[in-house]
Amino acid sequence: MKLLTDLSMDELKQLMVAYGEPSFRAEQLYLNLYAGKNFEEMTNVGKSLKDRLIADGYLACGVTILEHYVSKLDGTVKFLFSLADGNIVEGVLMRYKYGNTLCISTQVGCRMNCAFCASGLHGLKRNLTAGEILGEVIAANRFDGGDLKDRHITNVVLMGSGEPLDNYENVVKFLRLVNAEKGLNISYRNISLSTCGLIDAFDRFLQEDIPVTMTFSLHAARDEVRSEIMPVNKKFGVDLVIDAAKRYFDRTKRRVVFEYSLIKGVNDGEEDAAALIRKVKGFPCIVNLIVLNYVKERGLAATSRKEAYRFAGALEKAGVSATVRRTMGADIEGACGQLRAKYIDRSKTEEESL
Ligand code: SAH
Repeated sequence: MKLLTDLSMDELKQLMVAYGEPSFRAEQLYLNLYAGKNFEEMTNVGKSLKDRLIADGYLACGVTILEHYVSKLDGTVKFLFSLADGNIVEGVLMRYKYGNTLCISTQVGCRMNCAFCASGLHGLKRNLTAGEILGEVIAANRFDGGDLKDRHITNVVLMGSGEPLDNYENVVKFLRLVNAEKGLNISYRNISLSTCGLIDAFDRFLQEDIPVTMTFSLHAARDEVRSEIMPVNKKFGVDLVIDAAKRYFDRTKRRVVFEYSLIKGVNDGEEDAAALIRKVKGFPCIVNLIVLNYVKERGLAATSRKEAYRFAGALEKAGVSATVRRTMGADIEGACGQLRAKYIDRSKTEEESL
């Protein structure tokens, strides 16, 4: 499977030149591809060129919207995207005053197996290619009425299923593609990359000079607690993650975010807040507190919002910036991986009852 959306403008130009086509065809194709069109819909591209691309095994975008759910509360849209090989991933479009943010997936499933997360329930199936990750943005942009010139997605967060740094090459290529001037041209500062803390890959990422907003999933500041809920902590512990965040700040001067999902009786106690304060006090960061999204297969309970504000208050009092994340699309539930897990369950039940 080869996707045209995997190609940068230069790569597409090279392909056109190799085909003996004028290089402006690349720009024409880009307009079509980034509008989310399939070959049939590309009415201004000659049939012989399309036939040749198809004969060479190329697909246009490779991502289509299989299902979508719109929140009646705030207009949030949750998508189930279908990939060309039948795999599915999910994404969420959130509407803010400053623009639309799309949360996208980087892998089908995940190998990190965090104790609270639905993405790892079925393990890792495969990595997404750069063009597929981009395809999620293109498909959502089209859904909202946008195209290459009329961008309806202004911000992107890599917080859907998958661990971005576990799919390094594709994610880095995606970031360059989505930022490219001739592409959707989304500024790096409008992109957040969230990692559970694969520090070796992160140090490589630091060298790429892609100044996105870095978000580290911390979820506990004590190793014994973090190891219990995040297996990755046995390799890259709390101090290694916080040191990495500091290196990022030193290099980019961009304030980093620590995500902290509050789990009742696990990481939400006074001693947990105190440990976090000890570790990050004085470092310009924001702690983003998230009230755990209940995942039935995981069975962990959420801390109440009231307790979450108390936890935030303790951090603020000690001079550590903290926010409690607003819940969006509450009526169309589905934390990372939940929609897909449900879809798989449903398909299985349907298969069984056939
Ligand atoms: N693999 C990346 C991106 C994952 S999802 C990472 O670990 O950062 C984005 C965030 O949602 C992560 O902080 C993740 O830990 C968190 N998350 C996953 N499942 C959750 C749940 N059920 N409730 C609240 N937060 C969750």
